[in-house]
Amino acid sequence: MAHNDLAPLRHDIAQACRVAAARGLVDGILGHISARVDDEHLLIRCRSDSDDGVAFTRSDDIRLIRFDGTPGMPGELDGYRVPNELPIHVETLLAHPEHRAVAHLHPPAVVAADLAGITLEPIYGAFDIPGAWLARRGIPVYPRAVLIRTAELGKEMVAAMRGMPVVICRGHGITSAAATAAQAVLQAISLNQLASMSLRIRSAGGTCTPIDEADWADLPDLGPSFTADAVWRHELARLEWR
Ligand SMILES: [Zn+2]
Repeated sequence: MAHNDLAPLRHDIAQACRVAAARGLVDGILGHISARVDDEHLLIRCRSDSDDGVAFTRSDDIRLIRFDGTPGMPGELDGYRVPNELPIHVETLLAHPEHRAVAHLHPPAVVAADLAGITLEPIYGAFDIPGAWLARRGIPVYPRAVLIRTAELGKEMVAAMRGMPVVICRGHGITSAAATAAQAVLQAISLNQLASMSLRIRSAGGTCTPIDEADWADLPDLGPSFTADAVWRHELARLEWR
């Protein structure tokens, strides 16, 4: 595997980390994003002694490791440490070949909504179609608030995920899996928006009621690739503009 072939993927993951932070899905130094390279390797956001936090992730912070957490090439972990919660990424990638990227984030609105006992329902439609479909299919919850730092706990979280693209880790955060790091973050943004709106409706004294069944026929599920490129360009432009 040539070192420089991985540069674009390192860059993509670093950008996804910065977007996740800019959107308030992670705060400080917690949270990480990874992507599968092949059957034995993944790239993942690692920590270093000069780390400025997820919002300031550089391509250099994205390191090549093997699925067992050892360096993917000589020197890959010199000065870098893999996240404690590496098993989240490894077990999610191993369980589903179609999941090529994993974002583990700590979005406060999602954690708050779950702890408030709110089940995330498709409360809106055209406001955010991907988010509406995510909720329609059901958003699973992993009920334990633990640090997921063993393969056993990682497998337990994956089992709770039930093959869905996202799972809420109660009192902790979320795991979002997709074909690319960008899609995993866009999915997390949609989930966070759904949670924020649900909390807002409750705060206003309303109830979170699913939209009318008849409306689904005119809410085309165009899949992540249809609008994702344009939406992602916007997210990157926001980073520049800030
Ligand atoms: Zn975590």
